[in-house]
Amino acid sequence: MSATFVPPTLNVEEKLFQNRYRVDTGRPHIRVRNESTCVSCDAKACTVCCPAGCWRADPAGGIELVVDGCLECGTCRLICDQNNVDWNYPRGGFGILFKFG
Ligand code: SF4
Ligand code: SF4
Repeated sequence: MSATFVPPTLNVEEKLFQNRYRVDTGRPHIRVRNESTCVSCDAKACTVCCPAGCWRADPAGGIELVVDGCLECGTCRLICDQNNVDWNYPRGGFGILFKFG
């Protein structure tokens, strides 16, 4: 008799919550190269592509980037058609830890 498959019941937010993140204070591994470029960027694709919600449009028309919780997927670097994302991996010992998820 075969076992019945039971699909996982965790949603994305619950799965993300199981990750851990070690913050490298004062040394964000992703930066915006030129803030004024973001102000004049209409699409602001970075604000809709990030699975961790690190990018938000700010009320002044620019971008607020908080890399705490970044999953290191690299999507923001690829989707910015202005080449305005300076993207690096975090230093060793910092960043996302997936082993709890
Ligand atoms: S897509 Fe690039 S230029 Fe546009 S707001 Fe995001 S980081 Fe700035
Ligand atoms: S690398 Fe991925 S998770 Fe990290 S800020 Fe960019 S889009 Fe978000």
